[in-house]
Amino acid sequence: MENVTCDCGAVYREKRHRLPVRDKDTANCHLCGAEIRSWNGGVMYTYELIKNPKNASSDDVGEK
Ligand SMILES: [Zn+2]
Repeated sequence: MENVTCDCGAVYREKRHRLPVRDKDTANCHLCGAEIRSWNGGVMYTYELIKNPKNASSDDVGEK
């Protein structure tokens, strides 16, 4: 499990799931729509938003 940061500043907790079938899909940022990850195989990913840049405290944003 690892965290993924989108270009817009949103941070997601990434979960990898093994699948019995082949899956081809992409995951997109819920806030800006940018593609976070694409996959093609017996795996998929889900993302839980753990940091919303719009709700973050002011000392926590603005730097990349
Ligand atoms: Zn984003």
